[in-house]
Amino acid sequence: MVGARFIEAVRRRDPDAVRARVAVFGAERRAAYNRVLLSSVLAGGLSADQVRLHDPGWASEHRVELRTGVRVTEIDRAARRVLCDDGASEPYDELVLATGSRAWMPPTEGLVTKDGRPAEGVAAFRDLDDCARILELARPGGRVAVLGGGLLGLEAARGLVGRGVRVSVLHPVEHLMERQLDSGAGAVLAAALGRLGVDVRLGVLAKRWTPGEGLECDDGGRLAVDAVVVAAGVRPEDGLAAAAGIAVDGGVLVDDRMTSSDDRVHAIGDCARHPGTVSGLVQPGFEQAEVLADLLIGADPAARYRGSPLVTRLKARDIDLATAGDGLAEDPGDGSVEVLRLQDARRGRYAKLVLRGDRLVGAIMLGTPDAAASMIQLYDSGRPAPSDRLALLLGRALPPEGAAAPSPAHLPAASVICRCNTVTKSKLVTAFRAGAADLDGLVRATRASTGCGGCRDAVAGVHAWLTAAEGTAS
Ligand SMILES: Cc1cc2nc3c(=O)[nH]c(=O)nc-3n(C[C@H](O)[C@H](O)[C@H](O)COP(=O)(O)OP(=O)(O)OC[C@H]3O[C@@H](n4cnc5c(N)ncnc54)[C@H](O)[C@@H]3O)c2cc1C
Repeated sequence: MVGARFIEAVRRRDPDAVRARVAVFGAERRAAYNRVLLSSVLAGGLSADQVRLHDPGWASEHRVELRTGVRVTEIDRAARRVLCDDGASEPYDELVLATGSRAWMPPTEGLVTKDGRPAEGVAAFRDLDDCARILELARPGGRVAVLGGGLLGLEAARGLVGRGVRVSVLHPVEHLMERQLDSGAGAVLAAALGRLGVDVRLGVLAKRWTPGEGLECDDGGRLAVDAVVVAAGVRPEDGLAAAAGIAVDGGVLVDDRMTSSDDRVHAIGDCARHPGTVSGLVQPGFEQAEVLADLLIGADPAARYRGSPLVTRLKARDIDLATAGDGLAEDPGDGSVEVLRLQDARRGRYAKLVLRGDRLVGAIMLGTPDAAASMIQLYDSGRPAPSDRLALLLGRALPPEGAAAPSPAHLPAASVICRCNTVTKSKLVTAFRAGAADLDGLVRATRASTGCGGCRDAVAGVHAWLTAAEGTAS
């Protein structure tokens, strides 16, 4: 995803391919697709075809030599060449690694074969082939264990339950999604999943998988499941760089120019480790791609990447969960941090806001979709929070006194409205002006709001603003 975005960024700055010739190697046999939407593929909302990122003519339009199904196996830094598994070798002036990450397999006995592949009845959850394998293994009425109660594991579990599969989630920690949620929110989420039919087991490790028999757990229990889906975390795909002597440490180490310990080698997206940036989300990679394109094409030699605001959403039907920034922070008691919290476990709601001064720096919003939308807007914009804290917590936050009401007109063109499909305001405007006049047409043309659906109101807002400002598109 990030490699594809980098190419688009390069061609926006160098449309006639005067400054850069680009060759792309992708180990997957398919052309780029939206990995973020795989949860919707698993849940049955989208087909593999619907998550494709580009039309077939994309590579020639962008003047890139695209080679899918070809894995780069070695970087020869002295000769400045990459070597590929089809025997080809390609010279480079600048090399961009956007190799992403891979699913991590926990040390549960029986999960992987001797050559490191998922064993019989086991599937990871990282790419489209994994989705196909999961759907083959997890039949309606059958039983599946999902290892991992993080975002991916819960999205997989919800998707499979919706298909009539009986699902148990095993999570080694005492509450779900501990990287984003505190224990209160984790408990409310576990209860909400339970009501939807997901069997959540906390503080439990899978010990041994035996096909045909089931999964033994470290609490002495055994789950009679037909298959295991592993969503226990990811690891940056940095082996290629490490083997070439480039500095890595849980990702290719990069500076603010996205440059590695070798000046000619750069890394962006999940495979890169930038100080202070959490990897594993797509938005930081997109921003890194823009910075690197600025630098390599020479459009802005001063461009630097300084980190991204992080927003995550659980893409699970009937559960509205969004988190932003440092939602785990607590009040240290010295007045530097203010924490607002509302826990309504009976109705599956939990809201927590973390403020430093008048800025929202973290949030957890569960079961409160309207409040979550205004919280994300406030967090993204960095605007001062209103002094009426109750209104803020309930999502009725008004702009600070004297400020204009937030309107799509004031959003920068590059603002991302739909995070799942990475649809910016300018993409919506372009589609509207090209004839996608009604809301459904705009959604069809851009796919905005067809992922988790959390931006539906924002897309409708942009549409209403365009209709008012420009009338019906011709
Ligand atoms: C089910 C699922 C749901 C997700 N949901 C969200 C979400 O809601 N929000 C969010 O922000 N993020 C989400 N993510 C994470 C998001 O998909 C990643 O952050 C994003 O894909 C990273 O993009 P990337 O280009 O760095 O890596 P990738 O998309 O992984 O692309 C890397 C590509 O490089 C290829 N490659 C690797 N090594 C080589 C090699 N040696 N030679 C050639 N090609 C190679 C790989 O095969 C792969 O195709 C989700 C991920 C999954 C799996």
